[in-house]
Amino acid sequence: MKFLKQSALFLILSLVFASAALAQDRSEACPASDLPQKVMYITFDDGPKDDTPELLALLEELDVPATFFLVGARVRAFPDHARMIVEAGYPIGYHSMAHSYSYLKEDVRNISADLERFTGLMREVVGEAFETDLFRFPGGSTSYSSYARRYVVEQGYAWFDWNGMTGDTLPNMNAEKIGQYALKTSGSQDVIILLAHEGKRKTRDALVGIVEHYRALGYEFRTLSTDPQERLILERCPANMRLPALDALPE
Ligand SMILES: [Zn+2]
Repeated sequence: MKFLKQSALFLILSLVFASAALAQDRSEACPASDLPQKVMYITFDDGPKDDTPELLALLEELDVPATFFLVGARVRAFPDHARMIVEAGYPIGYHSMAHSYSYLKEDVRNISADLERFTGLMREVVGEAFETDLFRFPGGSTSYSSYARRYVVEQGYAWFDWNGMTGDTLPNMNAEKIGQYALKTSGSQDVIILLAHEGKRKTRDALVGIVEHYRALGYEFRTLSTDPQERLILERCPANMRLPALDALPE
């Protein structure tokens, strides 16, 4: 028994050192030991909405950042709110022009055209300097073909699903249930990408408790990106995602 315990300890230590060495290899600028062990990425989909300003105020009050996956049609409806997200300094990712699954699934050329329209619209609305390499499939990646999932990466985008859910689009959810659902689906995973949706008062109300809970557990709140340092953290996240190879990223 004692031997077994020692072997297990040895195995664990070897794995820790091996992964630390591997991580350091890939990015000398940031030793793995400096990276936070517990991280939550809060993501808001389907905006902007009429109450985006309330959400931004809440994030500021809670002192947590979020990543926004916007829909082009909503950007057209609330251009000021799209600009407010940019001004607040939060990253924006593509979440399609019209949230139409069928259109995007029909042909990867539709994804390509949609991406182009989205970027064009965002440049018109928030400024010519807009660019993003963050992508979220409407409805999540799993219902798209592996060809489509690969195609998005070949276009220079990183796509992200989630491994924690607020369940705020499910029927009969209130703030209390959303909070419970988020804690249940996220658990104590080291790296959590939490799915939430804009335009819901109950989600904002629940967010207060969710942030409080994970902050007390020592989680750091960060935003999604394809930077080398973020990659090292995201590698430990079990959510479905795909990041382009580092050398494939545009300069
Ligand atoms: Zn969506």
